[in-house]
Amino acid sequence: MESREKELIENLAAVNEDVADAVAKTGRKTGSVAVMAVSKLHPASDIEILYQAGHKCFGESYVQEALAKQDELASLDIDWHYIGGLQSKKAKYVSGRFCAIHSVDSIKLAELLNKKAQSLGVVQNILIQVNTAGEEQKSGVSEEQLPSLIEGISALDNLKLTGFMALPPFFGDPEGARPYFARLRMLSEGMEKLFGIKLPELSMGMTGDFRVAIEEGSTMVRVGTRIFGQRLS
Ligand SMILES: *Cc1c(COP(=O)(O)O)cnc(C)c1O
Repeated sequence: MESREKELIENLAAVNEDVADAVAKTGRKTGSVAVMAVSKLHPASDIEILYQAGHKCFGESYVQEALAKQDELASLDIDWHYIGGLQSKKAKYVSGRFCAIHSVDSIKLAELLNKKAQSLGVVQNILIQVNTAGEEQKSGVSEEQLPSLIEGISALDNLKLTGFMALPPFFGDPEGARPYFARLRMLSEGMEKLFGIKLPELSMGMTGDFRVAIEEGSTMVRVGTRIFGQRLS
């Protein structure tokens, strides 16, 4: 086996093991947390290696890069997720091309995604990115604006809201992120009650804090560095 192949497969196996361990220790159901391999700024060849080893779920953050990789790997049955910031003018390139778009944070963006999905005759799964830390410079809808965004999205027939995504502030200690993960879960339960809908997905946890995120109810962890190594930007 080539060394990159060996490295990637071992890294992913270690992550899967840690995730399974965290799931078991918190008494959650086996398989209740999916691992998204965040491949941004790493080559399509890395994705192909993990795909051939049986992994299907990948996350990308940059529109142009993501679409180029999708084209390059079009023959593979990959579950692509879009997790990056999304400008309104790029919505039309993204809608209909990903299993889920995790970074919806405005009604304007949702309407543009819906319009494109409608023209393609598909229903696009989306998650709302919530700025639970109330950080001003960060993307994500504020808690205050969340109910009206959900209400607006519920009127859009070609979008399906499946849950929420959080990207808490960076902490050296993963425990620092715990309150934000707990908060997202609480918000999700509150919104399910308020709207009488199911919001099964909680996209939270990255390389440094996915164990804590799983303890707080994550259903999908987004792991880049721990699988692929440092990103060259
Ligand atoms: C890059 C990125 C990740 C992966 O981060 P790592 O720390 O490398 O695991 C997860 N989520 C989002 C939204 C990202 O942009």
